[in-house]
Amino acid sequence: MGVGVSTSYGRSYSDRAFATDYRMPMEFTAAANLDELLDVKAQQPDAQLLAGGTDLMVAVNLAHHRPEQIVSLGRVEELKDVGSARIGAGTTWARLEQCQYTALAQAARTVGSPQIRAAGTIGGNIGTASPAGDGLPWIAAADAEIIVESKERGERIVPWREFFTGVKRTSLASDEVITGVTIPDNLPDAQEFAKVGTRNAMVIATVSCVVMRGDDGFRVALGSVAPTPMRATRAEEMINAESTISDAVLEEFGRIVQDEVQPITDHRSTEAYRRHAAGVLARRLVKRTLQ
Ligand SMILES: Cc1cc2nc3c(=O)[nH]c(=O)nc-3n(C[C@H](O)[C@H](O)[C@H](O)COP(=O)(O)OP(=O)(O)OC[C@H]3O[C@@H](n4cnc5c(N)ncnc54)[C@H](O)[C@@H]3O)c2cc1C
Repeated sequence: MGVGVSTSYGRSYSDRAFATDYRMPMEFTAAANLDELLDVKAQQPDAQLLAGGTDLMVAVNLAHHRPEQIVSLGRVEELKDVGSARIGAGTTWARLEQCQYTALAQAARTVGSPQIRAAGTIGGNIGTASPAGDGLPWIAAADAEIIVESKERGERIVPWREFFTGVKRTSLASDEVITGVTIPDNLPDAQEFAKVGTRNAMVIATVSCVVMRGDDGFRVALGSVAPTPMRATRAEEMINAESTISDAVLEEFGRIVQDEVQPITDHRSTEAYRRHAAGVLARRLVKRTLQ
């Protein structure tokens, strides 16, 4: 009998999942381009996409998962662009560390180690859809959309709120590939990311936060405090109604953030600490965007 391992947000890998047969072969294909990738997914929707493998291969190595067919998108150059209107799904964190979107670059710098950042991609972060994915609060704060494509239906642009449906759950169809993330026009230049974890480096966030300050006011997005990335909309409304950001306003703003998040207690942190840290982080980042 296997031993269940608790994961964030109450999911646990069952005994059945541990009973993986290591002798089962995994067929490997490397798509040469996007057309070929979409062809494979059209013909074999169960084929598992492999980008950097920093999430997928961990699951395979721990015997949580053993796909029969793996399709690598590492050679698909069309997915590696960072343009003015979209970020390709195959863009690595190492590349994003250098990008012009301050909070996304800050988030990229905190992902894993240099080795993880050289291999791991934003598309893989979105595909895994962990509440702790460091790229996801930026997507929520930017109000970016997820670009997906299939052979049969072509391109589909999905608002982030509709894409992330639960803990490690998305609305991606089995024959679809994530091709990128849209970059909305007029993104605020004043944007900040920070995360809290149990140590300074190589850490999965217990709370992460992005604050942007633009012409439409403040936007506040958080990770690791709900099943999906979330916007603290009540806190945004409150602070955006104020003409001066005094200490008292910030105090009340932080309190509303704490109230709005929906954290759980798991092996990484407690609900109470996550609530507290969410309020502190959001307040701190608002201050930073004002400097
Ligand atoms: C030691 C270590 C430290 C880590 N630290 C962090 C951290 O600090 N912050 C953080 O957020 N993450 C962290 N991670 C997790 C991981 O590195 C990231 O989530 C990374 O972005 C995953 O990208 P990848 O390209 O490696 O994805 P993969 O492992 O290749 O794929 C992940 C999932 O997404 C799917 N997928 C990949 N690309 C696509 C696509 N284009 N379309 C559809 N589905 C796709 C795959 O099928 C798979 O289900 C860490 C992992 C390790 C091993």
